[in-house]
Amino acid sequence: MKKLLALLLATVMTMSLLTACGSSETAAEAGNEETQAEVGNEEADAEAGNEEAQADAEANVEEAAEAAALSDGVLTVGTNAEFPPFEYVDDNGEPDGFDIALIKAIGEKLGVEVEVENMEFASLVSSIGSKIDVAIAGMTVTEERQQSVDFSDAYYEAVQYVILPADSEIATAQDLEGKTIGVQLGTTGDFIATDDIADTTVNQYNKGVDAVNDLINGRVDCVIIDKNPALVFASKFEGQLIALDGAQFDFGTEEYAIALPKGDTALTEQINAALEEIKADGTFDELVKTYIEAE
Ligand code: GLN
Repeated sequence: MKKLLALLLATVMTMSLLTACGSSETAAEAGNEETQAEVGNEEADAEAGNEEAQADAEANVEEAAEAAALSDGVLTVGTNAEFPPFEYVDDNGEPDGFDIALIKAIGEKLGVEVEVENMEFASLVSSIGSKIDVAIAGMTVTEERQQSVDFSDAYYEAVQYVILPADSEIATAQDLEGKTIGVQLGTTGDFIATDDIADTTVNQYNKGVDAVNDLINGRVDCVIIDKNPALVFASKFEGQLIALDGAQFDFGTEEYAIALPKGDTALTEQINAALEEIKADGTFDELVKTYIEAE
């Protein structure tokens, strides 16, 4: 800690010296020089063979990075509580579900409070780093999303399912061609229906449940949505709806992960470490039993 203070003091002194010299550098430039000053210090230490000092400096940089990511003691988490059993609004009007319990357990390991913001699924990725710190929403890792956000280690394997009227004749990938398909806007089910199946009309809904209601009303021929929500939704209309495994339609498997601000390696490492601990100590399996297998 002393070293961190000394480093900060040195940085402040360097900065005031630069200001005194009439430099009109921007805050960003100052930040860069700060980093360079830190690197410079580490190099000098290493050259002098002072390994202890170097290790201290590294620990301090790490400490500073940690503090920056979660410094306010609160992890603000975006979700879309329309995706049971991963997230839904409980009887008290609060977001609950597997993902919510998982991120709360992660917050506990990291010693921060978790605040959940319920928002539209399609807004989650663009809100990371501004309205929310991270997002957990049964979100599939995709290359497109990876252009704007980073992902934690994957925590769940999923696949798209097809919900159909019980008497539907749709059974193969080819049968889906030319059909009217209900999806949740901006999801991987939406991408499959829009991009991968020929001649479809795709009706996009903000909530998966609205797509399912339109299936009941005969406005769409089927709904493509992730396995577990598909099973929950279909079970609410037993006898009327069935949910078929996407493998039957050649849909590939997907992986859920927590979406994080791009480039925030400190936060990514901490969340991955917490996730690993939660898996190792049995908490993860408990959550699967409570929220997913109980469905
Ligand atoms: N797994 C899907 C996706 O990431 C759907 C997620 C959701 O609707 N919450 O697009």
